[in-house]
Amino acid sequence: MSEATRVLVLNSGSSSVKYQLIDMADGARLASGLVERIGESQGRIKHEPGRGPERDRYEPFPDHGAALGAVADQLAADGMGLDSHQLAAIGHRAVHGGTRFTEPTLLTDEVVDGLRELIPLAPLHNPANITGIEVARKLRPDLPQVAVFDTAFHATMPEFAARYAIDKATADAHQVRRYGFHGTSHQYVSRRTAELLGKSPEAVNVIVLHLGNGASASAVAGGRCVDTSMGLTPLEGLVMGTRSGDLDPAILLHLHRVGGMSVDEIDTLLNRRSGLIGLCGDNDMREIGRRMGEGDAEARLAFDIYIHRLRKYVGAYYAVLGRVDAIAFTAGVGENSAAVREAALTGLEALGIELDSVRNAVRGSTPRLISADSSRVAVAVVPTDEELEIAQQTFAVVRRTAG
Ligand code: ADP
Repeated sequence: MSEATRVLVLNSGSSSVKYQLIDMADGARLASGLVERIGESQGRIKHEPGRGPERDRYEPFPDHGAALGAVADQLAADGMGLDSHQLAAIGHRAVHGGTRFTEPTLLTDEVVDGLRELIPLAPLHNPANITGIEVARKLRPDLPQVAVFDTAFHATMPEFAARYAIDKATADAHQVRRYGFHGTSHQYVSRRTAELLGKSPEAVNVIVLHLGNGASASAVAGGRCVDTSMGLTPLEGLVMGTRSGDLDPAILLHLHRVGGMSVDEIDTLLNRRSGLIGLCGDNDMREIGRRMGEGDAEARLAFDIYIHRLRKYVGAYYAVLGRVDAIAFTAGVGENSAAVREAALTGLEALGIELDSVRNAVRGSTPRLISADSSRVAVAVVPTDEELEIAQQTFAVVRRTAG
């Protein structure tokens, strides 16, 4: 019997499940897909086998159990069902690990109870993660399953970066501190950036700019995160597609006391009606670029606010790190928008940052340098791969516990 080397990665949201089956022997993507509109009258499963045409089916998925059952059926149809002896483990993306889970963690009943205790810290995400985990554990109780936390990579932040300057007893009572998110992406991208430079992660200091619909920056010193822009929740930091990022916290009080807005209304405002969409009505950087090309002043201002915040974080993390070897752009905007990359880093020659405009304009799907040869700081575009990182971390836990 051949050794089990495949890992199924599951990312369970409140109404969707994303999945990928990866062979750790060679990193091959054997299948991937998405179940969406779980709990609605009509759902959809989109399955992409490693080879052959995509399969799209519409049917109701009353709950996560039905959704994962459909994923298992699709994989079985490709001869890679959940009962396959080649399946080594299931890796679950888990959003919030609090201060308790700072490493990828083998799931046991006790760990799942621990995740439940963390629900108040991530009320939108953790319940869905837990449902996915429970269903998968019922489907394959004998199979090692691992939770990989979005917050874990940031657990190395020094206390002075992780704490807010508020009353200590109040902060402690409610676990108010900076946790950071997108951790698997920051970890993967900082390591790949070191590889691109031909160095070990311990030898390089990197500023990672993860710019997707959600966006965050991190300062990574010798492979360890020392600061990141998201905080207690993924709302702090950069301007995002629909989230405000940094604000004067008294704005919330003002909107409540003077504007008469409820807590829920302010929550919706800051998470869904702010950022780029709040500023100009669009959250897709492609559309904003197109509008700027037509001379649209509102789109231009939204872009400039987005860039101004980004530059402030580059400067801040430069000072936090002291020596910067590389700046890496990743995620939808970071990987695709040459205009954002250029605007973020022009005029920083005094900091040793020189972009090469021709390299920056070249599109590609592999990690690449976009700085000039004379640039003291390397600038890179490094496509993120959170699923591969989750699979690798899951597989490492399984190997460690088996050995
Ligand atoms: P998330 O995972 O947070 O949903 P992604 O990393 O997939 O987000 O990024 C999505 C965003 O990437 C889109 O909202 C869009 O703004 C941006 N994007 C995607 N393709 C391009 C492109 N070719 N040029 C500019 N921006 C792009």
